[in-house]
Amino acid sequence: MTDDQHSPSTRAITAGRAASGRSLAPALWASSTWESESLDDANRRATSIRQGDFYSRYCNPTVRSFEEAIRDLEGAEESLAFASGMGAIASTVLALCSSGSHVVAQRQLYAGTLAFLQGPCARLGIETTFVDVAEPGAFAAAVQPGRTMVVLAETPSNPRLELADLDELGAIKGPFTVVDSTFATPLGQRPLDHGVDISLHSATKGIAGHNDATLGVISGDADLLAEIWAYSVLHGATPSPFDALNALRGVRTLAVRTRQQNESARSIAVLLADHHAVSATHYPGLNEHPQYDIAARQLLQYGTTLSFDLGTREAVSEFFERVTVCRVATSLGGPETLVCHPATSTHASLTAAEMDAAGVTDGLVRMSVGLEETTDLLADIEQALSRDDSRRSTRS
Ligand SMILES: *Cc1c(COP(=O)(O)O)cnc(C)c1O
Repeated sequence: MTDDQHSPSTRAITAGRAASGRSLAPALWASSTWESESLDDANRRATSIRQGDFYSRYCNPTVRSFEEAIRDLEGAEESLAFASGMGAIASTVLALCSSGSHVVAQRQLYAGTLAFLQGPCARLGIETTFVDVAEPGAFAAAVQPGRTMVVLAETPSNPRLELADLDELGAIKGPFTVVDSTFATPLGQRPLDHGVDISLHSATKGIAGHNDATLGVISGDADLLAEIWAYSVLHGATPSPFDALNALRGVRTLAVRTRQQNESARSIAVLLADHHAVSATHYPGLNEHPQYDIAARQLLQYGTTLSFDLGTREAVSEFFERVTVCRVATSLGGPETLVCHPATSTHASLTAAEMDAAGVTDGLVRMSVGLEETTDLLADIEQALSRDDSRRSTRS
């Protein structure tokens, strides 16, 4: 049950605890199956929607606790977890679309989502129109009444932190609107409050927050989620109870982690925006972000991830060799500050034209800001960027 009196950070401490009795920490239910008392009892368990104590692909108490915690934070009627963020995306799209269906999505997408829409979906006869996330009205204009089943947005987007206007998406009637809200976490934005049908997260990222769980989750109306659940038990991207346990532990500290990460991310963005070695800095919390007005309207936190341009691949390579506090790895939302080069890693599967459309340049670096002391991060970035100058000046 949602506790409306307290702020989300306070609710996150106890959310999803109901199934664990008087235990403060949630129990790990590793069981894949439960005993039945009679044929009637077995029949009831087998034919109920999301009935626990039956078989774990249908429902598992530890996973349920995680779902209840996210449901509370998202202010939703229901939440449903999956084995990964991609499991959530694939199950949601395939639950709602059939051969001949149409999807509207933005060009600037997580590369796995883009590949899923262009590969398996296209093969099954689900056609996608790609639009520019930052163009006002673009999603609504691409909707084909009666044929478009899903409008899929990702905001803030990966890796350029462009924003979809949640009010605009919420106003679209007809197709189901789905927002991949991974970069914001449930504390950074509330898509459902804007009228969007489904808020989706790769909980692998900020929600679990420790790089020790692979998990996805969606939230929305109970009827809609029951329909997606019915498909998902056949699709089988079933979450592991152990990962749900780790992610639920992540929920407990989400507020303090994101507060610290947001503060550091903003300081780093300010440093980079003024640095002569950096040609562009992308962070929704900067006044100069081209969609700062939308950011101020819909983001409760500006976010823990930013990206910036060092001009060339060689400059990125040198920067990566010099950083000592930042680590070179993909993923985001964890305790370690991670840097990656989207063009050769997360977005390597894109064609040159797709990279262009997604804003993935040769010099682009994505940074997920971790939990290290802000001053240590700033010093590390500063030294990694400025050694270039000393080399250049000794050469000249
Ligand atoms: C990581 C990510 C995904 C995919 O999530 P997995 O848990 O890796 O399957 C989807 N969308 C966004 C925005 C992501 O960052």
